[in-house]
Amino acid sequence: MKVLWACFCAGDILLRREGADGAFSLPVGDEPPVAIQPWNHVTTLKTKLSICDLHIVRLSKPVTDIDGLQMVGLRKTFFLLNSEEYQFAGKAAELLYWDANTKYCGVCGSPTKWMTDISKKCPECGKEWWPSVSTAIIVRILKKPSSAALQEGTESSILLVRAHNFRTNHYGLVAGFVETGESLEEAVRREVREETGLQINNIRYFDSQPWPYPFGMMVGFTADYVSGEISLQKEELADGGWFTRHNLPPIPDKASIARRLIDDWLNS
Ligand SMILES: [Zn+2]
Repeated sequence: MKVLWACFCAGDILLRREGADGAFSLPVGDEPPVAIQPWNHVTTLKTKLSICDLHIVRLSKPVTDIDGLQMVGLRKTFFLLNSEEYQFAGKAAELLYWDANTKYCGVCGSPTKWMTDISKKCPECGKEWWPSVSTAIIVRILKKPSSAALQEGTESSILLVRAHNFRTNHYGLVAGFVETGESLEEAVRREVREETGLQINNIRYFDSQPWPYPFGMMVGFTADYVSGEISLQKEELADGGWFTRHNLPPIPDKASIARRLIDDWLNS
């Protein structure tokens, strides 16, 4: 069976490149693409399609001097790998993150041991540990003009916000983690109310996306504006407002479901 290698060092993953201008891919082969040290734990993960095995390794130092191999930030691999390998890389990154954060049993404090390729067990108290992703919602809110305003040429507008923690100057959609005890739709309504003060309705599922930065699942929704003036939650948001398709600020790159939600509206 074909073996793919996901070798990480910090936030970067090792890719193979065929020639200076060639395509990028995950390294393939029975042996690792670089020397694995005894302290580099190797996780072997069977991919869900069963077309290959995925071996996951944390390297003790980055690879810098081997022709045809290059370390690349995980987020950037969306633009370099095919969609299947990008998903494998994300899954590998999440398992490494989970491994690093579950060294000890949360019940009794004993060191955990791997039980299967994707789970651990405490040898002392028997507690089993499985990865549980952090679920977050993200929502596209549209304000549609009344039929009278529509006849006068008023356009639909989209609510875009800019969070303090965005690394570039783009504007995105309202998003936030789902809390225990609430449904996805309740999380949408709560996050919109907390972050913007707006009332919405007609909440509909759009799509979802694994988000391995570091360990999440984004669940996308659309909704309609009902009432309220924008009142931003200043602790989280630096700016926000209504934008038409003709005055959009910089928007997220195509790796995110936020961009797909915005493009879906632009193309409608
Ligand atoms: Zn235990």
